[in-house]
Amino acid sequence: MNYNIALLKGDGIGPEIVDSAVRVLEKIGKKYGHVFNFTPYLIGGCAIDATGEPLPKETVEGCLASDSVLLGAVGGPKWDTLPGNMRPEKALLGIRAAMELFTNLRPAKLYPALKGDCPLREDIVANGFDIMIVRELTGGIYFGERGMREGKYGEEAYDTECYSRMEIERICKVAYETAQKRNKRLISIDKANVLDSSRLWRKIVHEMEEQYPDVIVADMLVDNAAMQLVRNPAQFDVIVTTNMFGDILSDEASQITGSIGMLPSASLGNTTRGLYEPIHGSAPDIAGKNIANPIATILSAAMMLLYSFNLKAESEAIVNAVDKVLEAGYRTADLAHGEPSLSTTEITDKIIENL
Ligand code: NAD
Repeated sequence: MNYNIALLKGDGIGPEIVDSAVRVLEKIGKKYGHVFNFTPYLIGGCAIDATGEPLPKETVEGCLASDSVLLGAVGGPKWDTLPGNMRPEKALLGIRAAMELFTNLRPAKLYPALKGDCPLREDIVANGFDIMIVRELTGGIYFGERGMREGKYGEEAYDTECYSRMEIERICKVAYETAQKRNKRLISIDKANVLDSSRLWRKIVHEMEEQYPDVIVADMLVDNAAMQLVRNPAQFDVIVTTNMFGDILSDEASQITGSIGMLPSASLGNTTRGLYEPIHGSAPDIAGKNIANPIATILSAAMMLLYSFNLKAESEAIVNAVDKVLEAGYRTADLAHGEPSLSTTEITDKIIENL
């Protein structure tokens, strides 16, 4: 098969880590008989420098015409003093909106080989954990009615959490289907003891239950979920939750893996075209030194193969190759604790050798 991939390398370490993922995809293409066509587009600070805006029209058009999009990271000190709507990060919200991406998938997996990097006690993570957080991305309090007004005690500000049936149903469908592809356990996280929006959320989660008889679904209050993630993370398989709860819990989950350079993400809409990116930023402190960890971006490419192109074996091959390289003890500097480490290109070579 032929696949057209838009590459948004961005700033800082973006170009280095995206180049690594491209090399891995090229090897997969050769091995499994696919052709991946890559077209680069500007985004973020480099786009501001070249065109005066963080998200040029050609970039949006190129992404919408592609089969899927791979993004590095944007931003850096050079652009930090620009006004809000001209900041590189503005391009991220712009491209997600243009592609109508309402789902964010964020895995948080503790690799057995990296247990020592996990901040949790050894007995808590003895069996590792592998969680997939399905976060609603375009609704809820971040997008609800907001404003400033004069209240009883003077100046006040408000934001509104509002979810429609349509928004809840479409994210729950993704979550149930994701659970079906994994261990078939789904936990829906809400605040139904206080919020009406959560009560509607919970009602719809259970209305949909009978369509997915193979999935075991349970509810959990968000305050309890924050505790359970550090008490017993292995109890979670798939989590589905709102925009704000997902924002907070996915960062908590990423921290307990202990390695920001390892975590991929996918943002999806109603089509198979998605936006795949590492969860970390552009790491300006290490940019251009060939020492960044490319694994989060390589695993983002693996997610693209699975979720956009339905290439399960190819996706698993990448994940297995990363596992083998870590098991063999190879590390980039961020995970080496001062011991000898491999460069970005060297660890990419090792992953490719294992494909
Ligand atoms: P960051 O994630 O870029 O870096 C935090 C720390 O983690 C740094 O010490 C960095 O060197 C390290 N790190 C991150 N990724 C790494 C990797 N792959 N390998 C090795 N080490 C890695 O966060 P920050 O420093 O707060 O932000 C830097 C810039 O990135 C800012 O301009 C910020 O706005 C932007 N940012 C962009 C995105 C995005 O593009 N999605 C996300 C977050 C931050």
